[in-house]
This record gives sequence, C-alpha cells and structure tokens, in this order.
Amino acid sequence: MVMQSITVLGSTGSIGTSTLDVIARHRDRFSVFALTANSQVELLFRQCVEFKPRFAVLLDEPSAARLRELLAETDLATEVLCGVAALEQVSRASEVDAVMAAIVGAAGLPPTLAAARAGKKILLANKETLVLAGNVFMEAVRASGSPLLPIDSEHNAIFQALPRGYDGDLKQNGVSKILLTASGGPFRNTPLSELQHVTPDQACAHPNWSMGRKISVDSASMMNKGLEVIEAHWLFNASADDIQVVVHPQSVIHSLVQYVDGSVMAQLGNPDMRTPIAYGLSYPERIDAGVAALDLFKVATMNFVAPDFDRFPCLSLAYQALRAAGTAPGMLNAANEVAVAAFLDERIAFLDIPRVIAAVLDELPVVDVCGLDDVLAADAAARRVAAERVVALQR
Ligand code: NDP
Repeated sequence: MVMQSITVLGSTGSIGTSTLDVIARHRDRFSVFALTANSQVELLFRQCVEFKPRFAVLLDEPSAARLRELLAETDLATEVLCGVAALEQVSRASEVDAVMAAIVGAAGLPPTLAAARAGKKILLANKETLVLAGNVFMEAVRASGSPLLPIDSEHNAIFQALPRGYDGDLKQNGVSKILLTASGGPFRNTPLSELQHVTPDQACAHPNWSMGRKISVDSASMMNKGLEVIEAHWLFNASADDIQVVVHPQSVIHSLVQYVDGSVMAQLGNPDMRTPIAYGLSYPERIDAGVAALDLFKVATMNFVAPDFDRFPCLSLAYQALRAAGTAPGMLNAANEVAVAAFLDERIAFLDIPRVIAAVLDELPVVDVCGLDDVLAADAAARRVAAERVVALQR
C-alpha cells in the first residue's frame, strides 16, 4: 500500500474535520503534510498535535504568531506559515500527493488552482472553484493530468454512477440525464408568508446534514443546489438541460444518472460526508469511513418532487447564470456570498438574498472568462454592487 501525503485546506471546517476523522482511521495509508485555517487557532493547534503536519498555515500574522507560541511548548516540528501565498505553497509542494480543497468561498480558488497546475490529486469540496473559474480550472486539470475527485456528496454520487473512466461525453456514454438530488432544506414546507421573517439559526438548522453556516443558508435558499448544477456542468461536461434537480427530502439517494436504455444508477447512503471523503481519499479502493451502514428498513419510504422555482428563486438565478455563461456564475456566487453574510449578520431578510443577486445579474455585463483576472474583476464588481444593494435594503 502506498502512503499518501495530504494537504487539508480548511482543516478546521466541517469538511476539514471530517477529512481528518477519516485519515485518523487509516494512519497506515495517509499522512498529513499541511493543515490550514483562517481564525480557529486553538483547534488548528489541537489538530497539529494529533496529526503532526510538516506545515500549518494561517491567514494573518497575529494568528500565526499565536500558533507558534502554542507549538513552542511542544516538541512538534510543525512550521507555521502565513498568508494566501503560503496556501498555494502547501498545495503544490513536491511532497504532496493529494489536496483536500475544503476552504469555504472564493478564497479556496487560488490554492486549489495551484494544486491543479502542479498535477496533484484533488479532492474537490470547494465548489466555488468551479463556479468562478470552471474553464480555467478544468483546463489546468486536463493540462497537468490531475486526478479530480468530487467530494460534494451529489457529485461524488454522480461520479460513482457514471461509467468508470468517464471521458466527458454524456451522449457517447449513453447518459440521457443527470438527476441531482436536493433535500429541499429546512424551508421546504414553510408557508411562503413566513419566509420573510426566518432567522439565521432557523436557516442553519438543516434537517439532514450538519454543515458550515454559509453552506447551510445556501441549502435553505437552494442556492447550494444552484451552485451544484453549475459544478456538475463543469465536472461532467453537462449542459443546463442535461441536469434535472430532484427534491428528495430523505437525502438517502445522493444523486442518479439516467441512461438511454431506461436504467437509472443511484448512489445511496446515510447523509455523512465521510463517505464521499473516504471514497475520494482511497479511490479506486474503498475503505471504512466510520459511517453506519444504511438501514433500508428504517428509511422505509423515499419521496421525490420537482423543485418549486417560485419558493426558491435562487435556483432559477443559478440556471440563468449558467446559461449566460462567462463571468455570470462568478457574479452570482459573489453576490450570494455578500447577501448571505448580510443575512447571517441580520442586516437583511432571508428573501432579500435573491433580490440582491438578481440586482447584480441585471446590472453588470457578462464577459468571457479567459483567465483569473476576468474572474477577479467580475467578483469585485459583483461584490460592490451587492454591498450597495444590501445597504439599500437595510433602509
Ligand atoms: P466551514 O465554514 O465549516 O469551514 C471552512 C474552512 O475554511 C475552515 O477551515 C476555515 O477556517 C477556512 N477558511 C474560511 N475562510 C477562509 C479564508 N478566507 N481563507 C482561508 N481559509 C478560510 O465550511 P465547510 O467545511 O462546510 O465547507 C467547505 C467547502 O466545502 C465549501 O466550499 C462548501 O461549499 C463545500 N462543501 C461542504 C459540504 C459540507 O457538508 N459541509 C458539502 C459539500 C461541499 P476557520 O475555521 O479558522 O474559520
């Protein structure tokens, strides 16, 4: 068995800690090269003690200095680095075999792209990488030959249900549709009149999955599913029309692939991110993820309904951005990040989130993405317009 050396970008987050949980079960297979975080210094320190990485990265110097102080009281050889450039350094280092891309938001793009350019195996949780710069990233993956394993549970399910070695041609492989499942989030049945008044805590109380707060709000608005449609477009070379969202409240089927002969292949399991993480880490082998076996008798019933685009305007906005192509998905994402942060700070209401995004998409022109500069310019412009919109809505 070959030992894999792993960099975990965003190790203190929900995906990051689940990744370390799986790694801890298989110390004979995986070692940790680098761990990175933004603000959770104490947790990063505890992770360093447990996994003894060669490097730990924090974004700002005071946090890095604090971690150095804590580490000085141990006999660990972990070196503490600081800043965005250091994230890229630990992603492309020659000692690294695989990078778990689990930073939240657009900040995850540069180090994930660095890993792709260096030909690392990439376990892709950070969906923003594809939403913002899908063509740039996929081109880097193709050029370097990076093995790319989707970690988002739906895309991991689709990856498993597609033929092994799928080459990006749905038609050639007899695929007629990708069926992307969605739980519908906590507000699936909430009366529309009450949605205006829901609180951040209500939005973050996901019925099936335990996740970070930003992605939990995205699940409640179904923007998460919209971003996943865009993600699926890039990962599987599927058009907007090839991807059908299916609301499946039990979250037992993680997605399906429909073939022209009438077959539908699905991947099922308990809703626990350690399953796709373990699959990505050990692919093409399978290893114990610490996840309980699915008890179909307990599940008993599974329901499927079409998405309600009136209730979830964010899902329509995502399809609209995917069809507009170019910088539109990146602007959608940037506007959503600004709007969700404002909602979590209780500056705007839940139903203002799609209003902010729609205003940004209406106001700004869409241009082709030729390189990261185009992405960053569109991202900055979208954030500026979204911030103005948030202020206007606060009044
Ligand atoms: P969390 O918010 O739980 O964790 C985010 C991680 O990124 C933390 O380690 C955080 O550090 C770090 N981080 C935050 N901001 C920055 C920044 N500006 N620069 C560098 N690091 C930063 O997020 P999740 O784990 O929930 O999600 C991570 C990614 O995976 C997202 O893109 C999400 O969409 C995707 N994903 C998540 C799923 C889930 O079940 N959670 C499922 C599928 C995809 P600190 O803790 O110090 O703040």
